Amino acid sequence: MKDVLSTRFSTQPYWTAALPPFCDMARALPQQVDVIVVGAGYAGLSAARTLARSDRSVIAFDAGRIGEGASSRSAGSLGNVPKAKLAQINARYGEAVGREIYREARLAREFVEQMIRDENIDCDLQTRGRVIAAHSTKAFNKLKVALPTFQDTMGAVELLGADRQSEEIGSDAFHGVLVVSSSATLQPALLQHGLARAARAAGAHLAQECRVTDIKRTGGSFEVTAAGKTYRATDVIIATNAETGRDTAVMRSLRRRLTIVPAFALTTEEMDPEIVSRVLPKGRSFSDTFQILHYMAPAGERRLIMSGRAGRSDGDLATKARRLFAYFQSRFPALAETEVSHCWTGTFALTDDWIPHIGIEEGVHYMLGCCGVGVPMSTYLGHRIAQKILGQEARTSAYDRPLPAIPYWPANNLFLPAAVRAFALRDRLFR
Ligand SMILES: Cc1cc2nc3c(=O)[nH]c(=O)nc-3n(C[C@H](O)[C@H](O)[C@H](O)COP(=O)(O)OP(=O)(O)OC[C@H]3O[C@@H](n4cnc5c(N)ncnc54)[C@H](O)[C@@H]3O)c2cc1C
Repeated sequence: MKDVLSTRFSTQPYWTAALPPFCDMARALPQQVDVIVVGAGYAGLSAARTLARSDRSVIAFDAGRIGEGASSRSAGSLGNVPKAKLAQINARYGEAVGREIYREARLAREFVEQMIRDENIDCDLQTRGRVIAAHSTKAFNKLKVALPTFQDTMGAVELLGADRQSEEIGSDAFHGVLVVSSSATLQPALLQHGLARAARAAGAHLAQECRVTDIKRTGGSFEVTAAGKTYRATDVIIATNAETGRDTAVMRSLRRRLTIVPAFALTTEEMDPEIVSRVLPKGRSFSDTFQILHYMAPAGERRLIMSGRAGRSDGDLATKARRLFAYFQSRFPALAETEVSHCWTGTFALTDDWIPHIGIEEGVHYMLGCCGVGVPMSTYLGHRIAQKILGQEARTSAYDRPLPAIPYWPANNLFLPAAVRAFALRDRLFR
């Protein structure tokens, strides 16, 4: 049987393959600033931009190069809801908090769109909506029951039975679809580059390949060691999400409250745009109702991007690409002759309550636990931390609550593969 991998198969993210590396036009770093940001993904850059626009001196350090981390590896979905279900948040924190968490998720999406317009960031923002396809009759009935909640939380939605799903997807493997008009997609690496340019233009210093290895509190300020040199700052923000390591004591403590999950994405080789529109006739993004969901969206006119967990934890990226693509090829007949050009991996950070958090730990601000919705949430919450430092918050964010401990950590991380297998088994057995 013919291999689905193209002869040009690459394990570099498609988004950065043709993009020149971000150049920081290195300026001498000041030894003392108002704020030091650790991590230059969406969260760190967004915080740096807001602070610099208010004339605060700021350095954002990144251990790698801008564009190498999760922010340029994502699938590019720009949603307006958190990962946690409303009922879960209500049960844990009460209905008033649940309402606010969902309200701010919509604000996050609006914030990103406004910033893209304000900064003229050309990142292929498409607001065509999302199709959520039911993988079983039971899943479709659940969508039907939850329709009023979807209308409340997601805005305009429409439920189409299996007899009408061909209006939205080129597949008869599903049992009806929910159409969410508000969902959007974008080119994530272009967003990150645009955000970095905006932060730098506002006056922020961006220091790439400068790992922060120590943060010490000294009186009313901080001493931060990065790439062997010491800098002073009045405030420090940790914006390292799934890359939060054991570099400093405060990072070690925060890291224990995150579960780090690998995820995979692939793009197809270029194909006739006619095939893309047979797969997704209205150009909307697609996801299914499995616990471990599969995602697909157009990437330009001639390619599709797909993402998911790609099955068991074993195997290299070629194996992952074949597994992930097999899911789509078996359900979308128009993909029969399509090949895979790129497959890459990255990690995302889950919290115990499945919402991102901002807060203060030992005097250090943090924005962590994006739970796979970091394109809107990291960008927005980075901005919210900056507003908090600037004393510009009209009201406290609902995401500003201590990052909860994970029961049984570190066993939690050791049991992750088993937990994922349990979800996958549940997906197969309880359809
Ligand atoms: C395959 C995949 C698909 C995804 N798809 C989507 C999607 O479709 N939609 C969506 O909303 N989200 C998606 N996500 C999640 C999203 O990419 C992340 O939530 C988001 O990029 C997090 O941004 P961030 O700024 O918080 O963290 P990051 O972008 O991870 O930035 C953190 C940075 O901190 C740096 N760092 C770490 N330690 C140090 C240190 N000691 N010193 C200096 N720097 C340090 C790292 O180098 C890194 O650059 C996906 C993720 C993956 C992996």
